[in-house]
Amino acid sequence: MKVLKIDHIGIAVKSIDATGQLYNGLLGLQHAGNETVAEQKVTTAFFPVGDTEVELLESTAPDGPIAKYLEKKGEGVQHIAFRVENIEEALAELKSKGVQLIDEKPRRGAGGAKIAFLHPKSTFGVLIELCERE
Ligand code: ZN
Repeated sequence: MKVLKIDHIGIAVKSIDATGQLYNGLLGLQHAGNETVAEQKVTTAFFPVGDTEVELLESTAPDGPIAKYLEKKGEGVQHIAFRVENIEEALAELKSKGVQLIDEKPRRGAGGAKIAFLHPKSTFGVLIELCERE
């Protein structure tokens, strides 16, 4: 498998609007838009930084994965996404080497990317997302 770059850093927040004053106001990043991924019960906001992006994640439902994360751990860095050349190949290789996968098969993430998560038990506590974009 080949990792190309850090695609984005996912940050769980209670309110995307409330964090605008930091990412946009204080840090001066451009807000590249919001997207709701209904299946994940999340709204994402992207702030490109050089060759990568900050992805803010706000829950759209009290039982969504981000709502549960906030309950347990509070706001903060939630995952790191590595862009890979071929996500199916990467998942197969990692699985064959004993890495526990959350997603056996890629699903659709924001921006039409193919994404899959690795289990933090296998990655020293970091929730790692793999993503492939065309
Ligand atoms: Zn992500």
